[in-house]
Amino acid sequence: MREDTERGSKTAAVVGGGITGCAIALDLTRLGFQVTLYEAKPLLGGILRDLESDGRWYFNGCQYLRTEQVWHKALPEALQGNLYRFAHYYGSYTDLGFGPVSHEDFEAPVFDAPPDGLADPEAYRACTSLADRMRCYPPAVGDAVLGWLRHLGADPEAIDAGNAYNVQLGRLYLRGDDKEIDTLKTGSPVADDLLGLPRTTRGEGRPIGSLPTDGYNAFFDVFETILTGAGVDIRTGQPVVPRFENDTAILRLRGEILRPDLIVWAANPTPVIAAAGLGRLDDPFVDITVSAGSISGPGLPADPHYMQVYSTGSPVTRIFSYPRDGGHSVTVEHMPDGRSLPDLQAHVQEICRSFYGDVRIEIAVQQPQRRHIFFSPADRARFDAFRDLCTTRYVNFIDGAWESYARDTKINSIASTVRARLPLLPF
Ligand SMILES: Cc1cc2nc3c(=O)[nH]c(=O)nc-3n(C[C@H](O)[C@H](O)[C@H](O)COP(=O)(O)OP(=O)(O)OC[C@H]3O[C@@H](n4cnc5c(N)ncnc54)[C@H](O)[C@@H]3O)c2cc1C
Repeated sequence: MREDTERGSKTAAVVGGGITGCAIALDLTRLGFQVTLYEAKPLLGGILRDLESDGRWYFNGCQYLRTEQVWHKALPEALQGNLYRFAHYYGSYTDLGFGPVSHEDFEAPVFDAPPDGLADPEAYRACTSLADRMRCYPPAVGDAVLGWLRHLGADPEAIDAGNAYNVQLGRLYLRGDDKEIDTLKTGSPVADDLLGLPRTTRGEGRPIGSLPTDGYNAFFDVFETILTGAGVDIRTGQPVVPRFENDTAILRLRGEILRPDLIVWAANPTPVIAAAGLGRLDDPFVDITVSAGSISGPGLPADPHYMQVYSTGSPVTRIFSYPRDGGHSVTVEHMPDGRSLPDLQAHVQEICRSFYGDVRIEIAVQQPQRRHIFFSPADRARFDAFRDLCTTRYVNFIDGAWESYARDTKINSIASTVRARLPLLPF
């Protein structure tokens, strides 16, 4: 669908060739832009690129796409054909405070409702840090989750409250008071932000997820062909540097100055905030390891399944099992706690038992990763200040909706900012 008649008269640079940059580059061609996509690495895909070992690929984390999203529906047929669909299963294992609770249909911590009530919605409005946010829950729940965050190596006092979703702490399920939770949620958006009910409890059924049949690397090869076919000039191995001059944003690429009509920065915000004179981002991060391999057992679900793990006795945070070549693969995200591979395998098998019965896991590949999934309250203020600058001075620059963690929100948000900004651009 073309929303503008003339292509080529206006130019756009998209920085970052992850899923966000690729989706936005395609969207901009539909708006009539001549688009160049800059990616620092040799290949497109960003954080979604698969892990590989002995000619096999494994998902690099538990990351599926959601088919009901606007941007997903707009993906061309050739890409849709590269994805398989499934009723999305997820589960949660929590042993914080009240003994182990596992739930087959909820992706955040599940607690048996404590005797001291549900949550304090009023405290929610005054939250600054993630620690404040967790104090909106009864102490037995909030303190247990705070202990878990510290166990992860995170400092909840230094992390913005808006990160609750990034670590699947947005809505906690305090099991046993479903009726009361439902009443609270219906009556107040604040309570709805704090408390969860499993979708199936609310009669909503399971969302339809999608994953690339042959892994994300192959998916991005197809995406590259589609982008090229749509006229996007893809420049890989090209790290660009932002610069703000007078009232315009420009880019520098190895000494060359680029002056596109529009810039979308779908990449790491640190150099942008610094170049705009807003200081250095605190950029709190966590170090994790991704371990992947095979999983087998009679009770494994046929569809992909992921499980969040909340336990101060375990380094594991997520386990994702998915069908592959008639069998199953598994990807585990965990903290690097120095345990041996056999110990890790035995430990993950033990956690899996509560969902799938007996399983056997063989890890084939491990990769340490530094994940930049958090921002501090001061970083949030810097993002807000920068966004103000963009609506008044640097109108040709669109930020990458950096606070949005989920790719769906990020892509949808950038696409709507682009449309809102078009009338301010000089063409
Ligand atoms: C642990 C973890 C789990 C996640 N789980 C989920 C999930 O379950 N669901 C969900 O929706 N989202 C999830 N996310 C978020 C999801 O990964 C991101 O939203 C999405 O994959 C990021 O894609 P992106 O294109 O925004 O960024 P990236 O994939 O990081 O891509 C950015 C690209 O920009 C390039 N780049 C950086 N600087 C420059 C430069 N100066 N010039 C040119 N190129 C540059 C990088 O090389 C990179 O390829 C998760 C993220 C993490 C870290």
